[in-house]
Amino acid sequence: MADVLTPEQRRLNMSRIRSRDTRPEMVVRSLVHGMGYRYRLHNPKLPGKPDLTLTRHRKVIFVHGCFWHKHRCRYGRVVPKTNADFWEEKRQGNVERDRRNITELKRLGWEVLVIWECWTRDTESLKRRLAAFLEQ
Ligand SMILES: [Zn+2]
Repeated sequence: MADVLTPEQRRLNMSRIRSRDTRPEMVVRSLVHGMGYRYRLHNPKLPGKPDLTLTRHRKVIFVHGCFWHKHRCRYGRVVPKTNADFWEEKRQGNVERDRRNITELKRLGWEVLVIWECWTRDTESLKRRLAAFLEQ
């Protein structure tokens, strides 16, 4: 597909990718729900507003976009051709914020699972990861 967006349009477009209710998030929600767990979405009272909070189990799940949170996979290693410094700074900021949030959550007694976007492409292995975390 040809790149028909101006840099400004692209920037807006990419910032929208961070919005809630993304496909990977919906995949995780529906699996967790199907496994019989109930959760709260984007709990504002917890560090980093985890995507899913299982209050009774004291567990939280984040669903991270590989690009935005710099996963060590081919999607996370992408370097945008335009505004490379801008994106790098933004992404590095996310990585550091993630680290602080997870440390703080653990300190508060929460168990934390991070699900990467690329993992949501394989439903069976994703299900196993979620089960291992939730049933432990
Ligand atoms: Zn990834």
